[in-house]
Amino acid sequence: MPVASSAAAAPSRSDVVIVGAGPAGASLGLLLAERGLRVTLVEATRRFDRQFRGQGLMPCGLEALAEMGLEPLLAGLPQRALAGWSFWINGRELFDAAEPLGSTRPCTLVPQPALLEALVQRACRNESFSWRPGETVQGLVRRQGRVDGVRLSGDRVLAADLVIACDGRSSGLRRAAGLPIVSAPSPIDVLWFRLPAQPRCSADNRFMVLLGPGGGCSVFPAAEGGELQLGWLVGPGERITRTSLEWAEAFASLAPDWLAAHVRGHAAAIRGPEALSVQVGCCPRWQEPGLLLLGDAAHPMSPVRAQGINMALRDAIVAANWLVPPLQQGAGTQAIDAVLPRIQQERQAEIQLAQRAQQAEAAQGDLLRRRPDLRFLLAPLAPLAGPLVKALWVRRQAPLRDGFLPVRLRV
Ligand SMILES: Cc1cc2nc3c(=O)[nH]c(=O)nc-3n(C[C@H](O)[C@H](O)[C@H](O)COP(=O)(O)OP(=O)(O)OC[C@H]3O[C@@H](n4cnc5c(N)ncnc54)[C@H](O)[C@@H]3O)c2cc1C
Repeated sequence: MPVASSAAAAPSRSDVVIVGAGPAGASLGLLLAERGLRVTLVEATRRFDRQFRGQGLMPCGLEALAEMGLEPLLAGLPQRALAGWSFWINGRELFDAAEPLGSTRPCTLVPQPALLEALVQRACRNESFSWRPGETVQGLVRRQGRVDGVRLSGDRVLAADLVIACDGRSSGLRRAAGLPIVSAPSPIDVLWFRLPAQPRCSADNRFMVLLGPGGGCSVFPAAEGGELQLGWLVGPGERITRTSLEWAEAFASLAPDWLAAHVRGHAAAIRGPEALSVQVGCCPRWQEPGLLLLGDAAHPMSPVRAQGINMALRDAIVAANWLVPPLQQGAGTQAIDAVLPRIQQERQAEIQLAQRAQQAEAAQGDLLRRRPDLRFLLAPLAPLAGPLVKALWVRRQAPLRDGFLPVRLRV
């Protein structure tokens, strides 16, 4: 159920206007509102389920929600804790790694619409919070060279001491501010499919990576209901036209027999593809006076090993740590502007490490996808090589799961 607008209570001037109610904007809005700050959260869509949103929360993302005091909120949401990861090459299992892989919590799938709705609903309990769904911010408003608010349709203005752009990887506010982004080439795009639930997949509860002569994909049961989510890897910008029957055959050619039979038997029920382009990059500067970029707006994340939601939640914690004191003290716009570079400084190192690790994982998978000679060498050796490859892979996962640097909420 969409959370109703609370725009009637909107103050004439907010301490903070946040643009975009993804994981970064919704969690930061909640943190600031619960600390008594006047926050307006503007979101272009009315329903969170209208666009594709990732589901994977790594242990550090779950930890970030716990830091925010949201463990009970999370417990009330539909979710699926993964039991493990399983890698297949040319129809043979290379290795299987059981969760939680040395972390304190397992990687958990949570439907993002439910999470975002719960965050906004909780923020709405605070009188100082104003929720504006279905409003698209058109641009920035400047006064004496400083960002002083945002412009909505019909030339309406929301004025604020600080605007926080959490408007995602294609951030219009980043463009409006003229803040450049340095993009890294991503070796992959994703074609997204949904397939009917398969009992063994639901019971095994694994994130499966399948690579073979026909291509490469990942398959896992959705957080709710067990429907299978399937991401087919393609080169950047590559789009493939196939009938459902042809797609079923392509999936089946990579899968173990029991899954192949299911896919062939349900070819007509395959939904997709939805083309999801992957962007990776980071802004050299996340701020200008009166404006802060956060989450994907500052650093678009690839879907590899589910990092983006986690990084967005961790951004929100660090931003709250720096912003709450000057805002609560009414220290003025100069004091606010002074802390903005500190937020970037504290977050950028982890973002760069995570993006580098994601790119390394993606490049390795892509190499195996495109090099039949490597696959044919590795597949028959799976019983021997599998344990070694697994040990190396598990070791590399630790920071991608638990975070590269400590992040704690101090306010
Ligand atoms: C295929 C794919 C799968 C992924 N899977 C995962 C995963 O499983 N786990 C994971 O951790 N990460 C995943 N990611 C990455 C993750 O989705 C992002 O990193 C994360 O959503 C970033 O959060 P955000 O809050 O910064 O931005 P977003 O989640 O993109 O939210 C931005 C919000 O801003 C709103 N908005 C945009 N413009 C305006 C405007 N002008 N006015 C008002 N509102 C506006 C949008 O409607 C949107 O709600 C995936 C990415 C892709 C591409």
